[in-house]
Amino acid sequence: MEFEECFWPKDRDIIGNLDGGKNGEFELFVSLWRTEGKPILQAHYGAQFAMNTKDTPEQELVDWALRALSSTFGLQRHDPSKKGEVGGSGMMPNLVKWSVKRWDSDEFTFGAYSHVPPGCDWSARGELAKPIDNLVFFAGEATSVDYPSTVHGKYPFPFLRRRN
Ligand SMILES: Cc1cc2nc3c(=O)[nH]c(=O)nc-3n(C[C@H](O)[C@H](O)[C@H](O)COP(=O)(O)OP(=O)(O)OC[C@H]3O[C@@H](n4cnc5c(N)ncnc54)[C@H](O)[C@@H]3O)c2cc1C
Repeated sequence: MEFEECFWPKDRDIIGNLDGGKNGEFELFVSLWRTEGKPILQAHYGAQFAMNTKDTPEQELVDWALRALSSTFGLQRHDPSKKGEVGGSGMMPNLVKWSVKRWDSDEFTFGAYSHVPPGCDWSARGELAKPIDNLVFFAGEATSVDYPSTVHGKYPFPFLRRRN
């Protein structure tokens, strides 16, 4: 979501939404201010909330994210029906552009990344990584004990060791 102005602390890359964390409802906003120099926030959501909103229209999801931000920062939102209304203290700057990415239905992704469910042993990742008869080998972040859920976690460990 790109806004007219940066209204969050510019020295912060990640903003947590403590109200939403329990259900995965916009639990995390990532600021691209320091990396892109633009007032852009990525709104992340997951868990049951992601499953429940598979068919929710995009505009509704954006409104949901804006409500979470306005509550987090104690800012009022502009009434979209009042054209020409601009800034002001206590008001959230207008949203300029947005796009919604649905990782679960993206043909190149089909999901996000693995997780170890509560009660499951962390070593399960190591089990997934075990080769079969030293002929079939497995890679991917799900097999990484040290760096799961990351890009570097997708590389097989010997490959990383060689590069280092
Ligand atoms: C929103 C988001 C933000 C992220 N941010 C970061 C970040 O900032 N830093 C970071 O390090 N990591 C980040 N990650 C995690 C990182 O993208 C993943 O950990 C990494 O891509 C995993 O790589 P992989 O090769 O294991 O799996 P993937 O990249 O998921 O590759 C698996 C491939 O298999 C294909 N596939 C699935 N099923 C089949 C099938 N039956 N037949 C054929 N092909 C199939 C999929 O289409 C996919 O192309 C992020 C992930 C998401 C979703």
